[in-house]
Amino acid sequence: MSDYPMLINGRLQQGDAVLDIINPALGTPFTQVARASGAQFEEAVAAAKAAQPGWAARPLAERQAALRKLSAHIHANADRIARTLVQEQGKPLAEAQAEVGYAQIFLNYYAEQELAPETIQDDAEFRIELQYRPLGVVAGITPWNFPFLIGLYKLAPAVLLGNSFIWKPAPTTPVTALMLAPVLAEIFPPGVVNIVIDDNELGAVLSSHPDIAKISFTGSTATGRKVMAASSSSLKRLTLELGGNDAGIVMPDADIGKTATRVAGSAFFNAGQVCIALKRLYVHRSIYDEMCDALAREVAGFAIGDGLQQGTRVGPLQNRAQYDKAIHYLEVAAQDGNIITGGGKAEGPGYFIQPTVVRDIADGSPLVDEEQFAPILPVIVFDEIDDVVARANASEYGLGGSIWSQDHDAAFALASRIESGTVWINHHTHFGPTIPFSGAKQSGIGTEFGREGLMEFAQRSVVSLNKT
Ligand code: NAD
Repeated sequence: MSDYPMLINGRLQQGDAVLDIINPALGTPFTQVARASGAQFEEAVAAAKAAQPGWAARPLAERQAALRKLSAHIHANADRIARTLVQEQGKPLAEAQAEVGYAQIFLNYYAEQELAPETIQDDAEFRIELQYRPLGVVAGITPWNFPFLIGLYKLAPAVLLGNSFIWKPAPTTPVTALMLAPVLAEIFPPGVVNIVIDDNELGAVLSSHPDIAKISFTGSTATGRKVMAASSSSLKRLTLELGGNDAGIVMPDADIGKTATRVAGSAFFNAGQVCIALKRLYVHRSIYDEMCDALAREVAGFAIGDGLQQGTRVGPLQNRAQYDKAIHYLEVAAQDGNIITGGGKAEGPGYFIQPTVVRDIADGSPLVDEEQFAPILPVIVFDEIDDVVARANASEYGLGGSIWSQDHDAAFALASRIESGTVWINHHTHFGPTIPFSGAKQSGIGTEFGREGLMEFAQRSVVSLNKT
């Protein structure tokens, strides 16, 4: 029997099989979770379908209250959840605590949202109203970098609108999701929220299942393409939040000390495994040496270790495959540039590499052109603004980007030339429930958060009355 059962049709269920969950700081399993059989998966979909109309018929205040209860439970158990999150994901405890805190912020935000219809026209002739109705069964497919937060910021808008929800976490990080199974079973009627666990086989089945109305997917661009293809047969609604290769552009007038601290804060957060991490930094030639030195000093001070150890700033890569990729990018860094801090594997049994800064590297190197998703930052020199904008935009991705300058108006003007869903000025990675988040180009389709993100979980329906 596993330590963590799934939630299917309102019942905590063991599976036919179990999955070992590895603590990436140690490279060894620390617990086991239940894994869904094909029949259990179908039971989850059928239960979600059957439960949805009844859930949608309940008053909005009841659905809001359910989100508040979930948030209060997380608040009361925050320390236990954060410590388990460190064990399954690898991140430092402070980052895990922030993730658990953010989950409450998102739940509380959605618990406040109203769904009143909008009047389009109301005069002597017509009364036309735009209504927001549920879509049906929504599936949330989530990645391993923020395994707790991402699932919850999909669950909350989905169920608020009266949809039912099936959460499929990433196979290497299902534990904190499953910790919520007992309380979800208490809060929601059977079938409204389900959590199924797989070993990477159920995402494809969810994406093509005729009884799923919408997929809210966060993960890599390669998998996002598969979701889009598989869901075409039933024309599912899709929100795809995919990969990124965010460029930062440091202008000659940037505050070097502050920029170095904040750039490193973004690039090395969660060991670089963040879709909106700063992943390539372009620095004007006039300050290039100074900026590289400041970054190297900053990053050399980052302590590597088990996230539960006090003082750890950078944890391990989350899984073996990602660790192998990081090692590959370290080799690329040594070949294509000059490593000014880090550059090696770190001591210990887990999936650790040293936080690394690489200078004298150019576009065309895989470390610059690809999404490294690792604590390795390439720093590239530029001379001309038009040229650096073209290089920043020369990517299939368009998730985020940043401009670093003390001239705020010029930076704002420059920001509008960056082809991405978000452009930060003098910071990077900031997001929240009121700020619409979208990917340009192949970084995604659709929007999460804010009113716009909420309504991606709605069917918009017009009711039009002719009064004459
Ligand atoms: P991944 O694409 O490998 O996996 C994501 C999820 O998809 C997992 O739950 C996985 O089991 C599932 N999956 C696997 N095969 C599937 C299929 N054929 N159909 C449907 N689902 C399938 O991504 P990952 O490696 O877990 O996460 C890292 C990637 O996620 C990075 O590219 C990162 O940039 C991206 N990401 C994006 C955002 C964002 O908001 N844009 C946020 C976090 C991570």
